[in-house]
Amino acid sequence: MIIRVHSRWVIPVAAPVLRDGWIDVDSARGEIVGLGAARSAPQPGPDAVLDLGDAVVLPGLVNAHTHLELSHLAGAVAPADSFVSWVRAMLGVRFGSSASVADVTAAVVRAIGQMEATGTAGVGDIGNTDVAVLPLAASSLSGVHFREALGLKRADAARIGGETRLGAALAQTRLTEQRSTRLVASVAPHAPYSTSAPLIQSLAAGYEATGAVSSIHLAESPEELEFLASGTGPFRALLTDLGAWDDTWVPPGLAPVPYLQQLGALHARLLVVHGTQLGAGELRTLADVGATVVLCPRSNRWVGAGVPPVAAAFAAGVRVAVGTDSLASVEDLNLFAELAFLRRIAPDVPAAALLAAATRGGAQALRREGLGVLAPGATSHAIVRVPPTGIADVEQWLVADAADTGDLRWLDELVAHAAS
Ligand SMILES: [Zn+2]
Repeated sequence: MIIRVHSRWVIPVAAPVLRDGWIDVDSARGEIVGLGAARSAPQPGPDAVLDLGDAVVLPGLVNAHTHLELSHLAGAVAPADSFVSWVRAMLGVRFGSSASVADVTAAVVRAIGQMEATGTAGVGDIGNTDVAVLPLAASSLSGVHFREALGLKRADAARIGGETRLGAALAQTRLTEQRSTRLVASVAPHAPYSTSAPLIQSLAAGYEATGAVSSIHLAESPEELEFLASGTGPFRALLTDLGAWDDTWVPPGLAPVPYLQQLGALHARLLVVHGTQLGAGELRTLADVGATVVLCPRSNRWVGAGVPPVAAAFAAGVRVAVGTDSLASVEDLNLFAELAFLRRIAPDVPAAALLAAATRGGAQALRREGLGVLAPGATSHAIVRVPPTGIADVEQWLVADAADTGDLRWLDELVAHAAS
């Protein structure tokens, strides 16, 4: 059954905003089959019409970086003024937690519910465990679940690499068993200060072989730059205190992006998460390679890591996506709130560019076809918002003032109702 949806605004993302737009949805397949501005609507007509009035329809948002398994730590780790002091506090809380598997799972389910209620359709989820896999499979979210590897000791690289691949394979098996075609499992090294060169390299070799996407926390804090440059500073002390230090570790004497490049671990399927310390040259390198920078500015503020170079990233032409990071370092998983914060720290970046980052940018980074845009063949699991009266620039409203998502509905649900 084809339902024709009319709405005051339609934001395809891959094309300019349509005023008085229409979208034809195949309700059985959950797919968009056509869209345009009012006068271009084709004949013969659809099977039914759904008029959304003064609403705006846009693709579901993509949270390209979160850690659902940390959701039980919501509010438990206070904001800090330096990153390593926040990491120390987080590790103390995480490993001192008496939360049961049931508690952790319930927190994951609540977090997914919050993402769905606030307009998120796609996710890049990182885990050291598989606690989020079944809740994700049961959700409406599409995307990638990354099994994360960390370990700075070279001697452990082969073992940890194998365990990480096995963890991802088991997660993929569970997703397949649940017939979850919207989600795939992959592997990701944690960060250059926590993951040895051979471990990063072995996982990077895997991406090329499988065509999967990967992710790494990179250039997150000034302390990371010091550690990579000279092997000194708060990270060295933290690794020693954790018993994770490797006496054979030699500082590369490089900035984070050249270091990954030297390892052969920089590729187009890599999500570079945070990047608060990335210089203009590094951003250009990432653009040349085709990698994605995932901005999580509220988390950066929470952990005392700095402010990401938002305008410089867009100016460099690198693909930009948006994430929240975990509930251990952000107030909520509401991407409209993340966009509002991005808008405040990057007032000169066009609203359309920020919106594209939070939709198409994340979908492309995660290689999820049909997500992040409104186009023929794309999913009809799209967002419907109702701006206050008098809004002239709907994109500006969405990125600056739309964090209260009480009006949010899902297009596919409205269409299913109209078709029944
Ligand atoms: Zn993270």
